[in-house]
Amino acid sequence: MIPVADPHAQYAAHRAEIDAAIASVLERGRYVLGDETRAFEAEFAAYVGVAHGVGVASGTDALALALRACGVGHGDEVITVAHTAVATVAAIEQAGASPVLVDILADRYTLDPQALARAITPRTRAVIPVHLYGAPADMEPILSLARQYGLRVIEDCAQAHGAIYRGRRVGSFGDAAAFSFYPTKNLGALGDGGLVATDDAGVAERVRLMREYGWGERYVSTIRGGNSRLDELQAAILRVKLRHLDADNGRRRALAAIYADRLPGNLIRPVTTTDSEHVHHLYVIRHSERDHLAAHLRARDIGTGIHYPVPVHLQPAYRGQPGIPAALPESERAAREVLSLPIYPELDAGQVRLVADAVHAFSGSEH
Ligand SMILES: *Cc1c(COP(=O)(O)O)cnc(C)c1O
Repeated sequence: MIPVADPHAQYAAHRAEIDAAIASVLERGRYVLGDETRAFEAEFAAYVGVAHGVGVASGTDALALALRACGVGHGDEVITVAHTAVATVAAIEQAGASPVLVDILADRYTLDPQALARAITPRTRAVIPVHLYGAPADMEPILSLARQYGLRVIEDCAQAHGAIYRGRRVGSFGDAAAFSFYPTKNLGALGDGGLVATDDAGVAERVRLMREYGWGERYVSTIRGGNSRLDELQAAILRVKLRHLDADNGRRRALAAIYADRLPGNLIRPVTTTDSEHVHHLYVIRHSERDHLAAHLRARDIGTGIHYPVPVHLQPAYRGQPGIPAALPESERAAREVLSLPIYPELDAGQVRLVADAVHAFSGSEH
């Protein structure tokens, strides 16, 4: 079976380094918010190209805390896309704000700047562009609208560690950026983790306080907070994996190039734009017979995924709520047609060719 992602293969690829890092944390006896977390925060912030990194418990928490640290909360509207992980929208609500969902650009799968412009109201305080599948959102028009209307920009970078837009890494464009280290992400822990990246010292400081009960010093809550700490084991593991991130992303790009070369010519592939560098968190194609194609591949022991089958505005928990439109045509079309093919750094070129040939065999049949 070729799975769509394989976090164990990544552990196995770096087993000796990861085991040593874990053993070292276990022996030192500091298990939460210690030297490993501090070192990882500095290393990852430098990698992204910002001044501050604050480790938290998940990508969802990173988004919610970044919003709150930017002063976004109750009574505020936050605009984002419906074609994303529900986590993006859940985080807006976790921060106490109201999500307003808009459509995507058909070819990029990311926030449509014109739809953003139409959705802005006097209550709009922030926008969350999502760099989906490993490809940067089109930030230039989004940043320009944000400047014009005084909106805070929080980038959702959960699927795009290392991706580059116009010469800079994603996560360095907005007021703050949220990263997830869920095991299958391009930089994945062996458990949960997240991080807020920002150039704004005030935002970084507020996230740092809020992740531990608002404590400025121990037992003294300067502001209101909660518990969203990053533990030392995950930080130590992430430090090991960060050293391999560029090589791993390069490997993903090489595999994506094989797909691009071998998949049937009429199939819609991920867009590659000249202004950005994709890190292929997922390799997403489109097919009008998507479900039949997935079944055809499953019968050949090839796993696939659908990211995402139900856009957030049609989810039972959200449909019909204020700020949630009844229809978003491009998001709905994507939800019907997208299919994620296996891609991860440890996959070998022969397996990618096998998957591509299996897609060919489907396209060559009566479908
Ligand atoms: C994974 C993901 C998140 C949430 O991250 P968690 O660490 O699972 O909370 C948010 N946004 C997007 C686009 C994601 O893919």
